[in-house]
Amino acid sequence: MEKLKKRIQQLKKKRPGYKEILNFYQKVREEQEKIKVSLKLEPVHLKKEWKELLTKEGFPLLERKDFPIDIEASINLFQSLCQIGKDANPHMAEQVKKIEEAIENKRIDRKKLLRESVEEAKAEQIANELGLDKKICSFFTQESIRPSIEAGIEKISNELETETWLKGFCPICGSLPLLNLLKEEVGKRSLLCSFCGYQWRIERLFCPFCNNKEQESLHYFYAEGEETYRIDLCDKCHQYIKTIDLRKIEEIDSTLEDLATLHLDILAIQKGYKRPIPNLWTT
Ligand SMILES: [Zn+2]
Ligand SMILES: [Zn+2]
Repeated sequence: MEKLKKRIQQLKKKRPGYKEILNFYQKVREEQEKIKVSLKLEPVHLKKEWKELLTKEGFPLLERKDFPIDIEASINLFQSLCQIGKDANPHMAEQVKKIEEAIENKRIDRKKLLRESVEEAKAEQIANELGLDKKICSFFTQESIRPSIEAGIEKISNELETETWLKGFCPICGSLPLLNLLKEEVGKRSLLCSFCGYQWRIERLFCPFCNNKEQESLHYFYAEGEETYRIDLCDKCHQYIKTIDLRKIEEIDSTLEDLATLHLDILAIQKGYKRPIPNLWTT
């Protein structure tokens, strides 16, 4: 957390326009960190057959709903995050108020909200039923269970062998990637799962969203003087993924780096590309 705070300070100095977003993110991460130490989680048991399924059949290991969650801790975190949301900006405050009203009026309870929102289709349905902004609602529910999910992944990651996976979706939970990461070895490229945070290796030239591998239709751009970040564009599906070059900066929190480079998303969107897995501030 100290490293993260230091990095947030650096980013605020470098890009003062992001101060509000960075402050919000820091508060969220602090609350998540607080509950990490006391999480009570069932172990994730990986059966031998599952591992075979992963390598031979190309199916992910778990469904999102199969991840063990400390629901009590997640509910507490949800309440703290809602509190932070109220002070963030007027739109978020209004959304949090709506969520709280729905809970008060017993239209949904916190447990159900957190458990069911794990599945994308259900999350969308709940947001629609309650008249909520889907992205904000998902943010609060997902960030509330994130410490549980990440603790589960940490426990099983040593047992996993995913070097040969090379697909555009997560070998653990099947979700699409949030970011693309470049690492130490020459050309080593990994994707970061948008749901469980697992990182898996993929080929250098590859669109994770449509499996395009043709060099002519894959390109990228970056902002002058900011070679650490780039946007990888695919002309086949007209979608993009943000890449963070971790050979140039220390790997502290890639999600933070994503939030601090929204200007690149704006450029990509202006060029007519779409981001399949947006963050809270992108469209
Ligand atoms: Zn995943
Ligand atoms: Zn594509």
